[in-house]
Amino acid sequence: MPLIGGVEFAAVLAVLYVLECVIELHPHDLVFTQSGRRYRARRPWLYPSNGDWGWLILNPFRPAAIRLRTSVRAASQELLDTRSLSRRVATFRAATRSLRLTISLHATVLLVLCPMAVAVLGLRAILIPAALLSFLLAALTASLFHRAWKQFGPPQTPWPQLVKMTIYPIASLRALDQLALPLLNDWHPLALAVHFNHQAAAARLYRSAWAAAHFGPNPAPAGVESLTQLLQDSGLDPTPLIRPPTPWDPTCVTYCPNCQAQFVLRAGTCTDCSGITLCPFTTARTLAAHPSHG
Ligand SMILES: [Zn+2]
Repeated sequence: MPLIGGVEFAAVLAVLYVLECVIELHPHDLVFTQSGRRYRARRPWLYPSNGDWGWLILNPFRPAAIRLRTSVRAASQELLDTRSLSRRVATFRAATRSLRLTISLHATVLLVLCPMAVAVLGLRAILIPAALLSFLLAALTASLFHRAWKQFGPPQTPWPQLVKMTIYPIASLRALDQLALPLLNDWHPLALAVHFNHQAAAARLYRSAWAAAHFGPNPAPAGVESLTQLLQDSGLDPTPLIRPPTPWDPTCVTYCPNCQAQFVLRAGTCTDCSGITLCPFTTARTLAAHPSHG
């Protein structure tokens, strides 16, 4: 009877690997993850935090997919240029081709071929050759990762990441996340949503920026003009996004211009969108439909 079978071996590897797919984020981060040919926008789960941090499980089946993060809070008006964003993504794709191939090969060896070999030949027979091959591929990944870091990462050498992926090959399978996630962090989130043609995220981000610029604690309506231009240039009409919602019932007299929640309060701020002042529904519309509640 073998000490450990193919199924148990695969289960242990899978658990260790999935743990590497969990990333910690700031609550205001937005991650664009590849889903087929498209990208989709994902927000971190905040549970069980009180809002200081969040987390996300990246798709474990696509270790070599490119994921990009941006921060809604640190949004910079200067970095709305989708052309420079597109160039950066293309340069990154080209520069990391070998790294992505190595990661895909390593993932296939470690997570598919090794468990199959354990099931057929037993752990003892494959342990040493499989470990040698895995460490070799991890060292190659670390070397390609370091080369890409010099081009795209901060100036300091990423010693903790290099050491971890060299001595713990499973960590090297997620090397691309460490390079790609901070790649576009300085760009405005709306620029990413437009670039990746994610209309739902673009609409949400635009409304949020517009509401903050007009009804936030420090209103600055002029600041939203460049966002409006960006949205129009991408073929999206901003007008319906900032239109008031239809009142649910006659008691709803105000709404939040950001999340569109409706309130019976005549004035105040939204409980979910800190600092956003509530807007009254068009008085004429509410009164005309329900005169008894005026
Ligand atoms: Zn709100």
